[in-house]
Amino acid sequence: MLDGFEPWPDEFAQKYRELGYWNGEPLDAAMRRYGLTFANATAVIDRFGEWTYADLDHEIDHYAAGLSSFGIKDRDRVIVQLPNRVEFVVVMFALLRIGAIPVFALPAHRTTEIVHFAECTDAVAYVIPDVADEFDYRDLARTVRNQTDKLANVLVLGDPAEFTSLESLRQEPTSHAPTDPGDVAVLLMSGGTTGLPKFVARTHDDWSYSGRATAESSSYDTTTRHMVCLPLGHNWTLTHGLMATFHAGGTLVLGESPDPGTAFKLVEKHGVTDTGLVPGIALAWVEMAPYATEDLSSLRRVVIGGTKLAAELARRVEPALGCQLHQAFGMAEGLCGFQSGDDDLETRINAQGRPVSPADEIRVVSEAGDEVARGEVGQLLTRGPYTVRGYYRGGQHNVNSFTTDGFYRTGDLIRHLPNGQVVFEGRVKDQINRGGEKIAAEEVENLLLAHPAVLEVALVGIADEVLGECSCAYVVARDDAPRQAELARFLNEQGVAAFKIPDLVRVIDALPRTAIGKVDKKTLRSSAPEKATA
Ligand code: AMP
Repeated sequence: MLDGFEPWPDEFAQKYRELGYWNGEPLDAAMRRYGLTFANATAVIDRFGEWTYADLDHEIDHYAAGLSSFGIKDRDRVIVQLPNRVEFVVVMFALLRIGAIPVFALPAHRTTEIVHFAECTDAVAYVIPDVADEFDYRDLARTVRNQTDKLANVLVLGDPAEFTSLESLRQEPTSHAPTDPGDVAVLLMSGGTTGLPKFVARTHDDWSYSGRATAESSSYDTTTRHMVCLPLGHNWTLTHGLMATFHAGGTLVLGESPDPGTAFKLVEKHGVTDTGLVPGIALAWVEMAPYATEDLSSLRRVVIGGTKLAAELARRVEPALGCQLHQAFGMAEGLCGFQSGDDDLETRINAQGRPVSPADEIRVVSEAGDEVARGEVGQLLTRGPYTVRGYYRGGQHNVNSFTTDGFYRTGDLIRHLPNGQVVFEGRVKDQINRGGEKIAAEEVENLLLAHPAVLEVALVGIADEVLGECSCAYVVARDDAPRQAELARFLNEQGVAAFKIPDLVRVIDALPRTAIGKVDKKTLRSSAPEKATA
């Protein structure tokens, strides 16, 4: 068992196995089975080609052999920061096949995040493209390697420069020891609320169940053509997109941009039936659809989640796109929920979905920790067959994030309706949800405090029409007030994902405090900025 992983107590593990939620089939073995069952069906389409399930399994075998003889071993952690291309899928399953553990990074992550990922997971290798979206990931690898002695190997898709070519590793398949379905398969980044992101260790058994349950709740079958146009490295895109589609024998269409100009063409070209969008992208689709020359009639469902979808926008989705709107919610820690064709229109507009497993346990509690009446607002606590019992190497943090009886404190305020649907009402966690990308306020505050002109800072989310929320840094200056552009440059130089750079900066004389001296973010949130200092 991977060190630092918090297993489920035996009685729960046994129950989940008996009830068939955990089927004891490692993910790489499931892929082998798909390669036989759906052999000639198209598994993946990307910008460069199409692969059948048999092709895909074959490629995975070649790369598994290559990665293994290169020296990647069972339980080794490997950071994967690839764009939405077939190689993402091949590398992920090749690592799983040799017992190694992919750690997924997003294309937007930069030095600070990758160094943290490497240090926190002791990763031995880092897989990147040469250049993607006009950004040279080899430069990023160079900077990262100057700051950590972890990533001994950098594998590059494309021109490797001084590093190792990923493609050159491909070799004749060999056999590998079977993987343990109860052990950790992947490490996912949590949205997080503390200084730096925590990792969520998902086992083959639990993560695979999450994909299967999603496929079932979404009624996927061999005719499903699911397009992933958001980054694949998120739990949502990996479970609802990749795993659910493969489980059903459907086709995964990989798009490199969710912009309607690009995505609509893929919908028409590949007859896409399903996709997942965040509300900001959904708005762009709804606005552009009336002018689209592409045929979007293959779409059956557009699933929207990641951050709260406003009812006004929700109402526009079906008429504009000519398909059903299903809302969804989820978290890297596990619990996820979807809507189905059986839900009526008003439910699909006003609620966010129903947990996918009958074994998902939901508690909604008041600030004092007491359960509230059904339908009342409270914090969502959850446990179940695919919700983790602790963060990877979580230590003390686990004491705050999980109850003693194993419920994960999500930090989300919800209402649990009598019909089982969950309605998101807000958050108690100090996190900003910027169009689905999560920003831990404390992480950015710590980075900004290193700027010589910043004496104190508080980062809060403020309403934004497109993103749902954007970030505003309230700064108390030491002397001369720092300008927004200067702070943005400073954060860029430290190498942080662009989505974490404050959208607005407001300089104030003092941060408001609560009676016990904590920064009063509620007051800051309610006083929307008059103007940025840029
Ligand atoms: P992540 O682990 O990055 O997927 O973030 C999980 C968090 O995203 C949840 O705990 C919620 O705060 C938020 N979230 C996910 N889906 C929704 C949704 N449909 N509406 C509101 N918030 C959501």
